[in-house]
Amino acid sequence: MVTELTQSDYPGRWWAMLPDRRIECRLCPRFCKLNEGQRGFCFVRQRVRDQMVLTTYGRSSGFCVDPIEKKPLNHFLPGTSVLSFGTAGCNLGCRFCQNWDISKAREWDKLADAASPEQIAHAAERLGCRSVAFTYNDPVIFAEYAIDVADACRERGIKTVAVTAGYITDDARPEFYRHVDAANVDLKAFTDAFYHKLCFAQLQPVLDTLKYLRHETNVWFEVTTLLIPGENDSDAELHRASDWFMENLGPDVPWHFTWTNHTHQRRLSLALATSRARRDLITFTPATCTIAMAAARGVAAAANY
Ligand code: SF4
Repeated sequence: MVTELTQSDYPGRWWAMLPDRRIECRLCPRFCKLNEGQRGFCFVRQRVRDQMVLTTYGRSSGFCVDPIEKKPLNHFLPGTSVLSFGTAGCNLGCRFCQNWDISKAREWDKLADAASPEQIAHAAERLGCRSVAFTYNDPVIFAEYAIDVADACRERGIKTVAVTAGYITDDARPEFYRHVDAANVDLKAFTDAFYHKLCFAQLQPVLDTLKYLRHETNVWFEVTTLLIPGENDSDAELHRASDWFMENLGPDVPWHFTWTNHTHQRRLSLALATSRARRDLITFTPATCTIAMAAARGVAAAANY
């Protein structure tokens, strides 16, 4: 699968030329405005000769066969293997990022493999994987590549999964999700202050993505929230989040809680509210989140994290 690796200049979509001759990227809500040669915040989209290009088309930061539950997805092809890969760069700047070496990669040697969409679909089939996951970094920033991989996979009967922060514009969202079969969306917190301070982003576009997935697509999706002590785990915030969740997504969307007590260092995945049996017991009331948080802390303490 490995071939010669150079930066690609694949034509990018979702951009427009502004009256001041800067190019505005309209793929994610950052709306980066670029002069010739400049790259966007994500680093992988660049203005080259008055066009937007995706520099990581066909470039991967590694392949791995995982259980689908590791994405985490507990109700999508359960018990099967998924071929996971990512590229480089990210459109968020999370200070607690656990894949920072990939998401903030500025060196091409972080990209180990080159692979066409057809090669990836073929590899998944050969490895007995029922699905391919775009993960490690956010697939929104390599949307053209992810879409082509998804199409190649569909031709072979293989599903695709986006592991994403859901930070995408109204313009690009429908096209992106038309091609994937499942998603795990990171809801990083429920305050704009958190998104602003710790992710250099905004909350509302993420909520828009969740509502879009629930009401306008057949994409199977689950939600993950990493609880960070003192930052996004107050009772008040979790109550508001669970109220919003129930009102806008309903009780059938699995919500995973993960927990860390050493930001940047350790993470304990619990998937507390993800099994059917547990979800039958846990309804998404305000108390649920508090219980989840307390349980996450308790298990973490018991495991000596
Ligand atoms: S996808 Fe990249 S270039 Fe486009 S707006 Fe987002 S961060 Fe900027």
